[in-house]
Amino acid sequence: MTSAEQIYPETRGGCQCGAVRFVISAGPGLASLCHCRMCQRATGNAFAPLYEVPAARVTWSGAKAAEWASSNISTRGFCPTCGTPLFLRTPADAGRDVGDTYEFMAGCLSPDFPFHPTDQGGMESRKRWLDALPHLRPYTTRPELLAVVVSHQSPED
Ligand SMILES: [Zn+2]
Ligand SMILES: [Zn+2]
Repeated sequence: MTSAEQIYPETRGGCQCGAVRFVISAGPGLASLCHCRMCQRATGNAFAPLYEVPAARVTWSGAKAAEWASSNISTRGFCPTCGTPLFLRTPADAGRDVGDTYEFMAGCLSPDFPFHPTDQGGMESRKRWLDALPHLRPYTTRPELLAVVVSHQSPED
């Protein structure tokens, strides 16, 4: 356990359509942000919010996540049906000083998961416009829009 790791409760998660589901048991984990160019492209986003845990703590159910080897040391997991980015997996034999790990995209974890990032990497690619976030005009989803939209998302548990 590195100094940045914290003890987290059990959590559940899955993709937007609900085909791929998982449970991560309680224990030490590392919550971080990665701004690297690979994470930007893999998520279609400015950065990846990652919750890293040993692979042995993950129990899968439903459909098997599809994986694509984004490098010679890691794969990117996603739902084969809805395409939700789910994780970055790095096996133990990848030459790192840690074991077999999953780094889950925090957005696919239960909404009540207490994700508290302590580290951020890939700073060479960090989007400078992130500095403007506190100054952007805030708004919430309009109730009249919510009244007419029929969501196809799976329920969360
Ligand atoms: Zn899905
Ligand atoms: Zn990254």
